[in-house]
Amino acid sequence: MSSPPTGINAIRSDRIVEIRWGPDHIGRYSNKLLRTSCACAQCVDEMTGRRILDPDTVQEDIEITDMQLVGNYAVKFSFSDGHNTGIATWAHLRGICPCPKCG
Ligand SMILES: [Zn+2]
Ligand SMILES: [Zn+2]
Repeated sequence: MSSPPTGINAIRSDRIVEIRWGPDHIGRYSNKLLRTSCACAQCVDEMTGRRILDPDTVQEDIEITDMQLVGNYAVKFSFSDGHNTGIATWAHLRGICPCPKCG
């Protein structure tokens, strides 16, 4: 179990979501990264693990229209392309953290 972030904040003007994992660990996730890394059954083949979603089909200016915590282990994003079936666990989000420390 990954521990939850201490803060999660969608910054619409920058098209990013800022996730604060600790006092000096902040990941700035672009909306597009969050959309293209979605691991739901519509985006990734459950049997083979192959990615179904072609990242090139995701608009650069995709927006997050809603964000809901799922228990204490994940967050569910709704995107402006209508996609809202993905549940991003803290472990998943930490795994794709784009900050200089993780990247
Ligand atoms: Zn998905
Ligand atoms: Zn990081």
